[in-house]
This record gives sequence, C-alpha cells and structure tokens, in this order.
Amino acid sequence: MAERELIEYIRKLAAVDKPPWATVGIGDDAAALEVPGGGQLVVTTDMVIEGVHFQSGTAARLVGRKAVARALSDIAAMAARPLCTLAAVNFGACRDETTWQELSRALCETAREFSAPLIGGDVASGAGPMSVTVTALGIPGTHGIITRAGAQPGDAICVTGQLGGSIRGRHLEFRPRIEEALALAERFGVHALIDISDGLSTDALHVAEASAVGMVLRASEIPISLDAVDLAKETGRPPIWHALNDGEDYELLFCLSEAQAQEVVRTGLKGTVVSIVGDVTSERESYLLASDGRREPLAAEGWEHLT
Ligand SMILES: [Mg+2]
Repeated sequence: MAERELIEYIRKLAAVDKPPWATVGIGDDAAALEVPGGGQLVVTTDMVIEGVHFQSGTAARLVGRKAVARALSDIAAMAARPLCTLAAVNFGACRDETTWQELSRALCETAREFSAPLIGGDVASGAGPMSVTVTALGIPGTHGIITRAGAQPGDAICVTGQLGGSIRGRHLEFRPRIEEALALAERFGVHALIDISDGLSTDALHVAEASAVGMVLRASEIPISLDAVDLAKETGRPPIWHALNDGEDYELLFCLSEAQAQEVVRTGLKGTVVSIVGDVTSERESYLLASDGRREPLAAEGWEHLT
C-alpha cells in the first residue's frame, strides 16, 4: 500500500468524525481549526525515525533540529505563523544521557529560533530506533490560510530555492520558509501552497489533485541544486531526476497569477530565490515538458525513463 493510499484510507475513516469547526482536515500540509470564541488554529504533527529520516550516528543536535523544522515547514505551507510546539521523543535503545540532553536542547533551541516555543511533550526509551514526533501549532497570517486546493488554470507554478540532493545534508539543516510563505499570502495573493517534502513531481501532483487541475513543469526551468549535480555523478541518473524526485527539500511550491509570479521573481522573496517552473492547466493531465518538446507524464515513479 502506498503512503497516499493509506492516508486516503485514514481520511475516509476519520471523515465521519470531522467536526464542523475543523475547516481543513486530513490531506493537506496541516489541519485548520476554528477556535471557539473566534480565530483559527493550524495544527500538524510530524515524525522523524532513526534509519528512515536520519541515519544512526547523526548528531543529536541535527535530529532535534530536523524534527522541529519539518513540522514548522508544514505550518509555513499553510501560510501560517508558528505559535508553539510539543515534542514526543522515544530515545529507543539509546542510554547516553548526553545525547538525551543534546537532542532536548536542539528541540528547544530550534523552536525558539522560529518563534514556536516548546510548551510540552513526552519522553520515553525502550528498544529499537530513536524517533521524535513534533506537533506544531500556528495561526493564520493576515490573509488567512492557503491550502493545496486553489491553483487555477493559467496560474504560474513557482518554487523557492534549489532542488534535489538534500540527502547531502540540507535535509538536516534547512530553514522552514515561514517568512517567505507569509509574504506570498500577504503581498502576492498566492492561490495554492505546499512544501516540497516528497519531491517536486509528487508534491506538484498533490496540488493538481487537490485543486482539480493539471500541472505542466518545464524541465529547463527547474532549479537544480549543486548537491543534485554531485549526487547524479554517483547514481548515474540525470541531475534533474534528483531535483524532481529526491524530496526533503522543504522548499515551497506555489501557484499564483502569471503577473504576480513575474513580480515575485523581480522583487525576490525575503532574499530567497524564486523560479517559475511551469503552468497550471485545466487539462487534468500533468506532465514534464522536456527541452526538446517531449512530454513525460508526471509521476512519482516512471521518471527513470527520462535520460
Ligand atoms: Mg507538507
């Protein structure tokens, strides 16, 4: 069963219980809740597991940092401002108290760095791998939350930063694009927003599905990181394959009018580089347009064909 199938299965199970005050439920970057008495809360929870999201032996400081930053990236992806965090840590088989303290300190310091103070959580240890689950709460910016569902035919598709090869280190030390996302909502009227955690191609498809549109990505416009170029030498795959499929970039993918997209590229986004990488269409078919004009269906797999 694929992850998205399981999430869809859970979404259906939980749908009958979805209260009317849950304005966004399972299936977006975070949930949004109407708070009794007014206002809206954005909530997400995210897990990092030893051997899956970080290798054994990774510095505890980086594990704690990643756990918090990942959750805050999902808050950013709703164009919300972080409010606070909670962390549940299972130290697994680790009995090293220095590691316990370093990880705890990293959780606290990262949360503080992004103005999302750690207000609670839980600790345990046992057998098996270490895991850290962070729950983050946020409040919408002045222009309200932005979900994945809102991309309109004719919109430009943009991304922040450079993509691919994050396994080389960026996946541990990225900055969640909080200020950039708020600026997109407040100054540029962005229509749809997601953070790139699964990879550009998969996350573009998430937006396409939620917005009931098609996405056309232009291969020549996709910003490829130096890490992706480097990694490609080892894997034998083209660098663009890594930019499209590696994931864990934690950059923003967003859709907005062509005029606004030009404006973002011209003025920049809080010093972060922005690239226009494609167009939203009404076709319900998503594909990558190669530089020679060929169309490759956009899919999480199937990309190996393109060389
Ligand atoms: Mg996300």
